[in-house]
Amino acid sequence: MRAAGTRRSGGSHKMTIGFIGLGRMGRPMASNLCRKGFHLIVNDVNPQAVRELEQLQAASAATVAEVAQRSEIIVTMLPNGAIVRDVVGGAGGIIDHAREGALILDMSTVDPETTDALGARAKAKGLAFVDAPVGRLASHADRGESLFMVGAEPKDFERVKPLLEAMGSTIYHCGGVGAGTRTKLVNNFLAVASCQFNAEALALSQRFGLDLARTLDVLYGTTAVNGQLKIAWPDKVLAGDVTPGFTIDLAHKDLTLILEAAHAAKVPMPMAAAAHEAFSTARARGFGGQDFSAMVDALCDLAGIEKPRVKR
Ligand code: NAD
Repeated sequence: MRAAGTRRSGGSHKMTIGFIGLGRMGRPMASNLCRKGFHLIVNDVNPQAVRELEQLQAASAATVAEVAQRSEIIVTMLPNGAIVRDVVGGAGGIIDHAREGALILDMSTVDPETTDALGARAKAKGLAFVDAPVGRLASHADRGESLFMVGAEPKDFERVKPLLEAMGSTIYHCGGVGAGTRTKLVNNFLAVASCQFNAEALALSQRFGLDLARTLDVLYGTTAVNGQLKIAWPDKVLAGDVTPGFTIDLAHKDLTLILEAAHAAKVPMPMAAAAHEAFSTARARGFGGQDFSAMVDALCDLAGIEKPRVKR
């Protein structure tokens, strides 16, 4: 389902949107909002990231508190739960400084407890809270083609829908607050663990001395295929581009969240545990800052196998 509603592009929107966290994902998401007529006030601990948004006519604020005071909706796109708890719920954070009736839209990937706790605290202060983690690749975010999985009260979903339509192309309302975060963990288990499956398969193919392009033809033509192998990898590691994208460090963070949530829910996930340690190994060998498709490079490096590259 794509959420119904009018796509407003190029128009001007009277509301002020706060946007905190302008990294690999937040930067294109905020840029798409600016280009589609939203008035933004942005903040990031990295001044260069802020300057890039200022060039698109966004205002900036030196503190999170100032962003909160000046915005009707405040978006956060931050690395992890600890930082989200600090920026949203810490001293000098959004909940302490937001205007009455403001809405906090957290789009980061975090643990369900963080979402639930911040949602409850926001509600107690008369603020609305929505979790809307982001699916698909960073390159989709660049093009405004992300998928959003939203946890929200129905009236709050309606408030954030115009923003989501400006940043993405597919929107799913998954349930109440917390349902977006939980859906994201389910999604990312498969999205991240399949990188490890692909890494092992292609390392074996390389060791066998098979023709890589022909092996890929076979994999793309059977049920062995998966989205990483078919959609993400051809333009990333297989083309020799390991710039992130989505880092191995962040993928490892997601596997940690997935395992913690699974342990709490008493759901055994042995494949997630194995993938988690494979990602730990890649990080220990210095691959943490590379794109998560470089899991195959980490394994080939470990085993002394030539990295798989498809000539174009
Ligand atoms: P990133 O590390 O590139 O960006 C995070 C940004 O937050 C950086 O610009 C950093 O300077 C800023 N930041 C950190 N602490 C801050 C603070 N206290 N105040 C203000 N700014 C602060 O990460 P990313 O790849 O953009 O990912 C962001 C979130 O989205 C993560 O939770 C990630 O798991 C999730 N995600 C990433 C992708 C992807 O493909 N990269 C896709 C979907 C979801």
